[in-house]
Amino acid sequence: MEALLEGLNDAQRAPVLQKDGAMMVIAGAGSGKTRVLTMRIAYLMQQGVDAFNILALTFTNKAAREMKNRIGTIVGNSEAKNLWMGTFHSVFAKILRIEGHHLGFPPNFTIYDSQDSQRLISAIIKEMGLDKDIYKYKQVHSRISSFKNSLITVKAYFQNPELQEADAMSKKPRMGEIYKEYVDRCFKAGAMDFDDLLLRTNELLARFPEVLAKYQKRFQYILVDEYQDTNHSQYLIVKALADRFQNICVVGDDSQSIYAFRGANINNILNFQRDYDDVKVYRLEQNYRSTKNIVEAANSVIEHNKTKLDKVVWTANDEGPKIIVHRSLTDGEEGRYVASSIFENKMNNQLKHSDFAILYRTNAQSRAMEDALRKREIPYRIFGGLSFYQRKEIKDVLAYLRLLVNPNDEEAIKRVINYPARGIGATTIDRLVIAAKQYGRSIFEVMENIQHLDIKINSSTKNKLYNFVNMIRSFQITAENADAFVVAEEVARKTGLLQELKKDGTPEGIARIENIEELLNGMRDFVEGQKEIADATGSLSEFLEDVALATDMDKDIDDVDRVSLMTIHLAKGLEFPYVYIVGLEEDLFPSGMSMNTRSELEEERRLFYVALTRAEKQAYLTYTESRYRWGKLIDAEPSRFIEEIDEKFLDIQTPLDTYRYKPMIDSDIFGEPDKSKLRLKKPVGGTPPTVGKPTEEQLQKLRKLRPQSTPSIRTDDLNDNLSKGMRVEHSRFGQGEVLSIEGIGQDQKAEIRFQTGGIKKLLLRFAKLKIL
Ligand code: ATP
Ligand code: MG
Repeated sequence: MEALLEGLNDAQRAPVLQKDGAMMVIAGAGSGKTRVLTMRIAYLMQQGVDAFNILALTFTNKAAREMKNRIGTIVGNSEAKNLWMGTFHSVFAKILRIEGHHLGFPPNFTIYDSQDSQRLISAIIKEMGLDKDIYKYKQVHSRISSFKNSLITVKAYFQNPELQEADAMSKKPRMGEIYKEYVDRCFKAGAMDFDDLLLRTNELLARFPEVLAKYQKRFQYILVDEYQDTNHSQYLIVKALADRFQNICVVGDDSQSIYAFRGANINNILNFQRDYDDVKVYRLEQNYRSTKNIVEAANSVIEHNKTKLDKVVWTANDEGPKIIVHRSLTDGEEGRYVASSIFENKMNNQLKHSDFAILYRTNAQSRAMEDALRKREIPYRIFGGLSFYQRKEIKDVLAYLRLLVNPNDEEAIKRVINYPARGIGATTIDRLVIAAKQYGRSIFEVMENIQHLDIKINSSTKNKLYNFVNMIRSFQITAENADAFVVAEEVARKTGLLQELKKDGTPEGIARIENIEELLNGMRDFVEGQKEIADATGSLSEFLEDVALATDMDKDIDDVDRVSLMTIHLAKGLEFPYVYIVGLEEDLFPSGMSMNTRSELEEERRLFYVALTRAEKQAYLTYTESRYRWGKLIDAEPSRFIEEIDEKFLDIQTPLDTYRYKPMIDSDIFGEPDKSKLRLKKPVGGTPPTVGKPTEEQLQKLRKLRPQSTPSIRTDDLNDNLSKGMRVEHSRFGQGEVLSIEGIGQDQKAEIRFQTGGIKKLLLRFAKLKIL
């Protein structure tokens, strides 16, 4: 036991040693909350508490596994295995398998994922003869989900005129009927959706006192990590189970509550003291994770939130390097900066790839990062999602693009022939496949001649197929003269893909649109980059070749040491020596959709606090001056969160510190600065302390973030100096050696062998080169 306590400071020891009673550990990031929880469990077991009597709820299953392993090393693995430990969903699914029969569910009930649920809801909407443009199945699903998380059952819905009125107002008076039908159908199918796992647990505990008593008795000690992000349904389960022994320990940080949009209720932490007798509140103040610079910078940002519990966080760790703030010209360059910075840090400090994490606000941002990492051959892993080119909507667009470059691509045809829906069913597709075999032709060729062939397809469907062929042909004509970006934009719009997603209107739908937008941005960037390469045109085929190589890397099996990429929401609880927080721009982070009220803005700020406090040794904050939105360069402003950090913790860099080159983008972003941008924008929803008339100090800092003008390096200086055998560095391709130079003036080209990307012939007029 001595050994167990050795790794804890006095403040941490106290909640570990208090065996019984209700307690809450409220403390800032990195102060050892999770460690306290882990050690408390080990300690209870050493005190003779049976592992079967301990319930520990974590935020992710990964966290539970890690905690179990840790406990296993102290008390022995075979004992640790008996702990009830996992996420709310996984633990209560287990209990429902044992007890679900009380509610009429079989032990082997199916768990519907959101796709299953949405499919069922959409079938119900159709059967009820409702307009699917008004009753959008994803919106209906998220409405039903929010009912369930607030414990509004079908019965409760019909007893609540306000809810019914709200649905009637939003033109969905039959919402209640859909809800009822959906619940009935799930029940008949012996299925529970994700929300049911919590709702049905609540129902079970409320309706069957003997079941409640059984689990109250079993779970003599209950522990909850990340308590600040529990929703109402989870809160009630914990409260019911802990009621008998009141041996409950919750740990959390109100400043890291970031799931309000999914129903998390910060009041659960604020009201804890009211819910139990004699609650002991512990505070931890010492951060063991991060350097002084990081801890203090994070403190200085979260200070701007009005709604928070007072907390002190300090560290005895080294001061560490300042937080690097890096400004790029575009998001493509932001990606390349991050990739080369990781590459250099790894080389210079003998690190592993797993020492690095790249965090972003929205999933779509992974594209620029992934592209840059691939070019540098840096292995990476996307957490909690697919890598960019594996996402459904991206594959859909790429399938169209592949199809118009190669109409014989059968997989591509099958993927998009009826997406968006054009009334071409599975039977028709089967018949096309058979006909193609019979005639020894490709499916596309069969479709091209469909009007003249004797195939069992009715004439209206034949017309649809013919229209599809014509659409693809018209794209091909565009592709003859236009670059990849122009073609792809036309495809996204004219196929109806975008309209389809816009109709959807759910957060997932919006994320999909963002991804397509991001694909187009990447193509625009690609086309620009190809201008540097002699003989390249930026055509669609060149782009697809580039992507084919990129997607191939996705197939890598695991166990490889990789850089971690994830949204900030997923990074909660984790830590990495080096953390890059990218896309720190107004409207992106804070998100443009979350700046309308103070509480939304404060949640964004907490998100930033979470992001920054993941870093152990060094944090990087990057932003770009301009981002492509639908292929147009839009001016971006540095995020207010950068401005909120005390400047003494920052090392503010400019792109010219990294690369000496002539910027190739439209001259307008280098022109006279927009004076309004030099003023701190007044955030919506009130005035935090730093806002108002900016001080001279703030203005100076802003000028640094956004300099008056970016001096451009004349390329002809570079050309004159450049000669065979020289070592150069290119922002996109990395380091290389000049093999030869040819041509004069505007046409001068250099042949360069790059360490990663083979030999390339670059037009010096455009090339972004630095002489090493
Ligand atoms: P978060 O709020 O981000 O979830 P946390 O409060 O849960 O953070 P932990 O993850 O438990 O913090 O601890 C942060 C880091 O500090 C971990 O690497 C942990 O091992 C280390 N640590 C915690 N307490 C101590 C201690 N007393 N001595 C040495 N290292 C410690
Ligand atoms: Mg933690």
